[in-house]
Amino acid sequence: MANTKVRVRFAPSPTGYLHVGGLRTALFNYLFARKHGGTLILRIEDTDRNRFVEGAAERLMESLHGLGISYDEGVFPEGAEPEGVATHGSERYPGTICAGETGPYIQSDRLYIYREYAEQLVESGKAYRCFCTPERLSELRETQAAAKQPPKYDKKCRTLTSEEVAEKMNAGVPSVIRLDVPSDRGEIVFRDMVRGEVSIDASVIDDQVLLKSDGYPTYHLASVVDDHLMGISHVIRGEEWLPSTPKHILLYEAFSWKAPEFAHLPLLLNPDKSKLSKRQGDVAVEDYLKKGYLPEALVNFVALLGWNPGKGNTQEIYSLEELVTAFDMTQVHKSGAVFDLRKLEWLNAHYIKSLPLDELVTRARLIMETKEWFQNTFDACKTDEYLSRVLSIEQERLETLDEAGEGNPCFFAEPEIDPKLLPWKDNSTEDTKASLERARGILEKVSDEDWTREKLGEILLDAAGDKRGDFLWPLRVALSGAKKSPPPQDIAWVIGRDATLGRIDASMNTIS
Ligand code: GLU
Repeated sequence: MANTKVRVRFAPSPTGYLHVGGLRTALFNYLFARKHGGTLILRIEDTDRNRFVEGAAERLMESLHGLGISYDEGVFPEGAEPEGVATHGSERYPGTICAGETGPYIQSDRLYIYREYAEQLVESGKAYRCFCTPERLSELRETQAAAKQPPKYDKKCRTLTSEEVAEKMNAGVPSVIRLDVPSDRGEIVFRDMVRGEVSIDASVIDDQVLLKSDGYPTYHLASVVDDHLMGISHVIRGEEWLPSTPKHILLYEAFSWKAPEFAHLPLLLNPDKSKLSKRQGDVAVEDYLKKGYLPEALVNFVALLGWNPGKGNTQEIYSLEELVTAFDMTQVHKSGAVFDLRKLEWLNAHYIKSLPLDELVTRARLIMETKEWFQNTFDACKTDEYLSRVLSIEQERLETLDEAGEGNPCFFAEPEIDPKLLPWKDNSTEDTKASLERARGILEKVSDEDWTREKLGEILLDAAGDKRGDFLWPLRVALSGAKKSPPPQDIAWVIGRDATLGRIDASMNTIS
């Protein structure tokens, strides 16, 4: 490690949202770069135009930013690019800036580079033009399938003479460029930082297409050319890319380039051990953030998907800074990592509990403001002061910010009182009324100074003596309208004296 300058990249395709698996890849690249004083590059791999989604690249950058995962080179939202580095814009992505010496960092801005390198391989005899029609290729696949052979191009065009190739090119016959995988290459062996030695027989590898007939590169060509030209020292990506790596190694060999080190991160699994899928829950980072998971909880959770500190260390709570210090690629395991939502909820609850109250108010407000019940509540219930009272009561129990205010409608609207709910056990209407009247009398006299959560608790419990149910139940129902709610002193404290007395009166009216 010592002599290698660490340069890693996160290379998402802008096909929709940031997947939790993508976040894990970005995070592990980030941690590895920061740990080794290296450079992290954000490269946008957008050459698959069929899967391209407008705005996805921009949203992805926003998500990374919101999660605190910074990078040093590549594509940035305009204004967020690092200073003192060469920059250029991209016409396809207005509002973004590429910064760094090894750009462009958007693959669709690099098409001329891929073409040049593909041609170079054709010239050196490592690749060849193939003019086979889609019909011929599908016939070939069918014949192979019938003979129980793996699907593989039969190298028909490999033997075309340069005159034949020139003739077809001049006649405008569409063609692709394929890598000529040497038939005597034998085993391809490479060392993976997570999986150890990996070996695969080159004879099962197809003469893969490098450049398509529309002039766009395939993922394999673009990825290898870019990783080489951008000086990538370590390729850290998900296990689903492992089958591509031997192909990439053959390409490095064809170019006579040194291949980077590889680390393939374990698959993410549903609790039933199937591959993590949308069907069993959310996989988009944006959705988790919208639902009130804190960025710090998500980052902490995702860091533990496939990594742990090892050596009997059971620490589970890590800030991003702590992760940079603790992270070690040799502690990443190769078996699949189960995405356990309960653990995320537990971590989230932990981070919510640790938030300073004013910070909790600021963050929860953003979510509450999207809810109709909040938009329709009284202005007095929307102030920071009011919300801090509500949240100081709820903070202990919140698992997500989305739950803020949701479980206690009595803080935001006058409750509907069901008179049948007011009496404690078999108590009579008169007893219930008397108890409410007594509570009213006591609360009326509490000074402003004593109108605190603790003091109200003391006063009411004191007044209840050993008759807690008889005294406190009707009051709680009067203030909340519900069977289950926070204790009456907490509700009284949050809603204030006027509303408290008003609700008691309204309840008494329902039984008179
Ligand atoms: N563009 C690929 C993706 O969407 C990147 C694969 C790689 O890291 O080589 O994940």
